[in-house]
Amino acid sequence: MKIGELLGYTFCETCGEQVDEEALFCNNCGSKMPVKLMPGMVLCPHCSKPVKESFRFCTYCGMSMSVEEEEEKDANVKTCPHCGFTTTDPDKMFCDDCGTRLVEDK
Ligand SMILES: [Zn+2]
Ligand SMILES: [Zn+2]
Ligand SMILES: [Zn+2]
Repeated sequence: MKIGELLGYTFCETCGEQVDEEALFCNNCGSKMPVKLMPGMVLCPHCSKPVKESFRFCTYCGMSMSVEEEEEKDANVKTCPHCGFTTTDPDKMFCDDCGTRLVEDK
C-alpha cells in the first residue's frame, strides 16, 4: 500500500499533513482540501458527501439526490398574467414591471 492510500485518510497538498478524508479543511494549515470523487460518484446536494451516481437517495443523510424534487414545492410562485413576471415573494401583490395584479400558481 502506497502512502496516501490509507483508508479514511488523505494528505494535505499544501503541508503534507495527514488529514481525515472527510475533512473539508486541513487541520494543520487550514488549506481547503480538494473534493475527490471516484468515477461514478456524485456529491449529495444536501450533505456534500460522495454518493454513487445511480443511487436515488443519499447513503449518508437519506435525502433525495435530485434537488428539483423538493425545493420549489412549497414556494408559491406568483405570475403576472400580463407580462409573465414571476415572484416567490408572498407579500408581493402587483407586478414589478407592469403593475398588474399577480395570480398564484397552484
Ligand atoms: Zn495542510
Ligand atoms: Zn446526503
Ligand atoms: Zn407584469
